[in-house]
Parts: sequence; structure tokens; C-alpha cells
Amino acid sequence: MHEMAIAESIAEQVEAAIAAAGHPRVLEIRVRAGALRAIVPEALTFCFAAVAQGSPLEGASLQVAVVPVTILCPACGVRAELEDGAPLICGRCGGPGDLIAGRELLLESIEVEE
Ligand SMILES: [Zn+2]
Repeated sequence: MHEMAIAESIAEQVEAAIAAAGHPRVLEIRVRAGALRAIVPEALTFCFAAVAQGSPLEGASLQVAVVPVTILCPACGVRAELEDGAPLICGRCGGPGDLIAGRELLLESIEVEE
């Protein structure tokens, strides 16, 4: 279950960010996870709650947005979102596509109490 390690990494990043801001209470954290990361949002949310327990992040809500795998075809310029597990192939010309989204893991925003 790699979600636990990811949850710990997110908690570390958020704690570092709020330390710099004088430790406000965190209400909501948003992350964007590429589909290729194979993250189960519910599992990540669950792991994050476990990691946050007893820490300054306890009670913060974690929102996970899954970013679809997206390719850009260098031959014909088509940009397409692919189904999970589909090969990175252009649907128009059948050539290999360049991956432009789907592998990222980004801390998008942290909402804190005013
Ligand atoms: Zn193409």
C-alpha cells in the first residue's frame, strides 16, 4: 500500500508550509495525482487521516483529484486523454504519443483558518 508513504510525504510538505506561515490550522489540502500513479483516492484520504492524527494537521480534509493520462502526438498534433491502462498511442495516426500529463503528484493548495 504505497498510499501511506504518499500520505506521509504530503503531511511533511504541508507541515513545512504551515510552519513558514506561523502554524495556522489547516482546513483543507488539495492534491492532483496522475492516473499513472495508481493512487486510490479513498485509500490516500484514509492514510492521511491516520498520519495526521495527533499532529497539527489532525482534522484537515484531503481532496484528491485524479489527472487523466494525456498524450500529445508529435506527428499529427492530436492531444488526447486515454483510458486507464491504454497504450500511449495516437488514436488518429497510430504513432507513439508523448506523455504530457498523468504521472504528476502535486500539492495544489492548502486552505488554512484565517
Ligand atoms: Zn498522431
